[in-house]
Amino acid sequence: MDTQSGTTVDLFINGQTVPSGSQRRFERRNPITGDVATIAAAAQVEDAIAAAASAAAAFPDWSETGPNARRALLLKAADALAGRAADFVASMTAEAGATEGWARFNVMLASSMLREAASLTTQISGEIIPSDKPGCLAMAVRQPVGVILGMAPWNAPVILGVRAIATALACGNTVVLKASELCPRTHTLIAQAFADAGFPKGVVNVISNAPDQASEIVNALIDHPAVARINFTGSTRVGRIIAQRAAAHLKPVLLELGGKAPLLVLDDADLDEAVKAAAFGAFFNQGQICMSTERIVVDNAVADEFIAKFSAKGTVLVAGDPREGKTPLGSIVDPGAASCIQALVDDAVDQGATLHQAGQRVGTLMPAAILDHVIPKMRIYGEESFGPVVTVVRVNGEEEAIRVANDTEYGLSAAVFTKDITRGLRVAKRIKSGICHINGATVHDEAQMPFGGVKASGYGRFGGKAGIDAFTELRWITVETLPGQFPI
Ligand code: NAD
Repeated sequence: MDTQSGTTVDLFINGQTVPSGSQRRFERRNPITGDVATIAAAAQVEDAIAAAASAAAAFPDWSETGPNARRALLLKAADALAGRAADFVASMTAEAGATEGWARFNVMLASSMLREAASLTTQISGEIIPSDKPGCLAMAVRQPVGVILGMAPWNAPVILGVRAIATALACGNTVVLKASELCPRTHTLIAQAFADAGFPKGVVNVISNAPDQASEIVNALIDHPAVARINFTGSTRVGRIIAQRAAAHLKPVLLELGGKAPLLVLDDADLDEAVKAAAFGAFFNQGQICMSTERIVVDNAVADEFIAKFSAKGTVLVAGDPREGKTPLGSIVDPGAASCIQALVDDAVDQGATLHQAGQRVGTLMPAAILDHVIPKMRIYGEESFGPVVTVVRVNGEEEAIRVANDTEYGLSAAVFTKDITRGLRVAKRIKSGICHINGATVHDEAQMPFGGVKASGYGRFGGKAGIDAFTELRWITVETLPGQFPI
């Protein structure tokens, strides 16, 4: 039965939708209107433990389920998710102020991630390794690890919620997904898609928690003995807390954290192409994407021409209520975030940056903003804005462009624009980031690609075969085929 399509949502534990044991609930409000968007169950520590125990109980059967059976269910989940696109649009616009286009893109890529995960079930291969010991058959074998805890944020909620669990399930693990407090309905709808697909009870569990209980719920899940590995997508600040907690148990963690992606415009770049990619990368989903272009590093030789073209494009990108569907940009996720972004812009302008923007921010609705002539003493030079604002740093030549691109604590995505591909490859190799696109936008994700960062953007990789490494244990198993010969 579909119990998660209204605005009141429950926990999903052991194949059942259940309220929190304490009956406590919390509200998520629409960021534009302030109306209640969702009333969600606020899991208590006992509920978190029940979710982990349910996943642990489901593990023996699921880990022994054949790869084609796992594949069939994952493909059904992909279809079920796509079939709920209208529900996802409604929940993402209400909970996060997202545009319909962004919500539909989320559903499409998340379905693709489930199909990619389905395709991996027969690709979880090992190897035979030559042994120096006569008669010894030595194998490297990949096995599921157990219960995986996944934690996903609100900004690309369907993509990142599904990413946190899809490959883990394909590899034979069972999962607990911890929803974001900012989009509990959207994340709980993912559970509904798995239920629609007919996943066995306990294989997928989803819990939501009140914001003031995040720490105790996350700690209870990390500490649970059945939880073998953890993945977290969110801020670098919380990623550090989670990594430290997991380290106390020596549990491996995959961390996908903040970003400050640079887009380099070298002196031989195709400026029209660079402008298109920069506008998309900086402003899609109001700049609330971990790969968002936060810094444009442009060679002085082409800077004036680039800025003229870019500001003409940027200043038509206005924001509005996504439920009306009339504007390219929707809302910032909440009033507090909007104020923080505005403070970063004001600080830069006070210190001499030039602002190109179509109009003023109204509450959580902020039109695209371009800050030119940004220098290191401005806060926005180093801090992730996670909003529809992009900085422009002017440089002289390739060496300075690379130096500025690397002048950040983060290292998730990057882009280089040049008509000389050899030069593009040379520069890309020297940028310290997990991902770099030559003549493409910094925002680019596909289910089969190794996705992840370096430095304060985290470690580990989701996607394709890299995901198999993240969600299996690689074991060394031998068989002796000759009588043993030992020195003692
Ligand atoms: P956040 O880190 O503020 O919150 C994430 C979750 O952490 C919350 O839902 C909360 O439950 C939990 N949390 C909060 N305090 C905690 C504590 N003390 N202990 C344990 N858990 C706690 O992030 P957010 O606002 O949801 O997401 C935005 C951030 O995510 C941005 O920095 C963005 O760059 C990053 N992000 C990264 C990627 C990526 O793939 N690298 C993708 C999307 C977003």
